[in-house]
Amino acid sequence: METLHNVILAGAFLAALGGALALFLAIASKRLYVFEDPRINEVEEMLPHSNCGACGTAGCRNFAEQVVDGKLEPARCTVNQPEQNLSIAEFLGITLGDVEKRVARLACAGGSHVAKIRAEYVGHSTCRSAAIAGGGGKACAWGCLGIGDCAEVCDFDAIFMDRHGLPQVIAEQCTACGDCVDICPKQLFSLQPVSRKLWLACRNEA
Ligand code: SF4
Ligand code: SF4
Repeated sequence: METLHNVILAGAFLAALGGALALFLAIASKRLYVFEDPRINEVEEMLPHSNCGACGTAGCRNFAEQVVDGKLEPARCTVNQPEQNLSIAEFLGITLGDVEKRVARLACAGGSHVAKIRAEYVGHSTCRSAAIAGGGGKACAWGCLGIGDCAEVCDFDAIFMDRHGLPQVIAEQCTACGDCVDICPKQLFSLQPVSRKLWLACRNEA
């Protein structure tokens, strides 16, 4: 009899505890609720989801938040189709903006057909390794090492290595994500407006 009484008591206690916790969670969820503009999801859906950072934000979601917030204009995403950016502007009732596309440009013209070679590099096949191992084999200390870390890192297939071992950028495919800029141990890439057709193809600082 006493056992049955204890079981009923324990059950009642657990039920009361469960009720109190449920009430606490309900109040907490109301108090801690943070409103998120549902248009952010809609705008994010209209973005390319490449999360490349070309717009200068942490990724497509962050870009969508800033566009909805009025801090950035849709045209800032240079990876998206222009019609898609226009759809975003119309959806939000804001101006499209006008941002010139940027592309990666290489500051080296010293391919294997013209560059002097002082040693043959036979180590791990990356530009970063070659740069550490005495700066690679080229006589020019500023020149492209030609192993293609930049082409490897480009998620948009916008770089190919030409027959002289120099990277070539396909401007139409470049999204200006900056990955090649970051990875090149010789700092040979920079992002420039696509309309700029002249640039110094050399970083020699001697
Ligand atoms: S540009 Fe830089 S990363 Fe690309 S092949 Fe030349 S040295 Fe290597
Ligand atoms: S890695 Fe360089 S070439 Fe490729 S998309 Fe990014 S900026 Fe353009």
